[in-house]
Amino acid sequence: MSVAVSQHKNFIGGEWVESAGGETMEVLNPATGETIAEVPASTAEDADRAVQAAKAALPEWLETTPRERCEMLLKLADTIEENADDLAALESQNVGKPLGAARDELPEMADQLRFFAGAARVLEGRSTGEYMRGYTSMLRREPLGIVVGIAPWNYPLMMAVWKLAPALAAGNVQVLKPSEQTPLTLLRFMELAEDIIPAGVLNVITGDGVPAGEALVKHPDVRLVSLTGDIETGKVIARTAADNLKRVHLELGGKAPVVVFDDADPAAVAEAVKAAGYWNAGQDCTAASRVVAGPKIYDKLLEELVPAVESLHVGDPAESEDVEMGPVISKAQQERVFGFLERAKKAKATILTGGDSNGDRGFFVKPTVVTDVGQDAEIVQREVFGPVVSVQRFAEDDEAIAWANDVRYGLASSVWTRDVGRALNAARKLQFGTVWINDHIPLVQEMPHGGYKESGYGKDLSVYSLEDYTQIKHVMAKID
Ligand code: NAD
Repeated sequence: MSVAVSQHKNFIGGEWVESAGGETMEVLNPATGETIAEVPASTAEDADRAVQAAKAALPEWLETTPRERCEMLLKLADTIEENADDLAALESQNVGKPLGAARDELPEMADQLRFFAGAARVLEGRSTGEYMRGYTSMLRREPLGIVVGIAPWNYPLMMAVWKLAPALAAGNVQVLKPSEQTPLTLLRFMELAEDIIPAGVLNVITGDGVPAGEALVKHPDVRLVSLTGDIETGKVIARTAADNLKRVHLELGGKAPVVVFDDADPAAVAEAVKAAGYWNAGQDCTAASRVVAGPKIYDKLLEELVPAVESLHVGDPAESEDVEMGPVISKAQQERVFGFLERAKKAKATILTGGDSNGDRGFFVKPTVVTDVGQDAEIVQREVFGPVVSVQRFAEDDEAIAWANDVRYGLASSVWTRDVGRALNAARKLQFGTVWINDHIPLVQEMPHGGYKESGYGKDLSVYSLEDYTQIKHVMAKID
């Protein structure tokens, strides 16, 4: 039976429009490999049209008060909640994630919009004052103007919300480009939001990183580019943006260590790694992908972890609500993950479980646990972005922290121990933007999410994110 292929357009200046060249590209369901949609393959011309639409909307948008922007964001939050089932089903189909997991994301997005709706009204600065005799100095916190958001494929709508909520709350206008592989929920959201957001304030173009994303990054009228994506993409964008010194906000990859001291509870660690290592088929920038375990707990932990991982129900999310893990996003990603595993095996790593696909249909990789890997092994050093967890045995606490830090990434980490001092000492020494103690993966909208080192700079979520979408002006008045 052939699947219905939906047809889509770009959303520019409040209108649904085809790409300038009329070209389209296919969007697949990764659980079946079938085409489910066609979207515009946008070019530099489309990017320019979207930026021009944003530019036209900016003067009026700059007149809005925080309260007016707050009220708009609250309506968007309500819309997300009212359409949660529809959006979750579409996200599940396009990303291959379990329906329950997709459903769980929607209330979070609504709450993120509500957080930024409120935060827009309470931004603070230093007090106005006389710092030079005869003068009053005051601060204005102003929007940047036209900002661009470029999103990845692992949490397509949520990453778009992480960008649009603070950007619009702070008074910017925006052009968003979803991943070419997962544009469908953002397009659906725009259909739902088109009567809520004034024309041109939020524009969406679909298409490849090059040319569509690149053209947005090069555009001289754009003042900031926010990317969630790969480290290499982040470097290209930072270099390109340097040409006219636009700001960049980069949420890049991760290789999160799970530091397990001997006094931790092995069953609790195994449960957490089962969840956080394989959530979204391991395609999570904070995935618990790298366990570093103490000499006494190592064997016990593996005894708990391997059966826990083998118990994960893997399959096409459309076939059963019990599915806990779906496919990875594409054939290329599946091959990339298998490439890592082949090279690891050649380097004498042991695959304790998993390592192969789950039949011929779709782009599956079975949940995999790898051991017998050294600190310099590729599978320890590089982000796999698939359902693969490596487990290493350390000898002493200092070695654990050194290994945990010895990667180019610095997004997230966790430490497991019952000893408060040991936990806080590790939290101090771990060079990551997030450190969890005795858990791995929960986030809250009030706290910042972002990297150290090559995981990027700029924060998502929290008031720090809102500040990233603003600039500060000093106004100094002569008063005598
Ligand atoms: P990617 O870098 O391949 O693509 C991300 C986006 O960038 C896509 O929309 C793509 O079209 C666009 N892009 C690619 N090249 C571009 C260019 N030259 N100019 C402008 N845009 C360009 O990443 P991905 O494969 O979609 O996502 C996976 C990566 O994202 C992983 O590395 C993951 O860790 C990271 N990620 C990070 C976070 C975080 O919060 N730090 C969250 C989710 C994902």
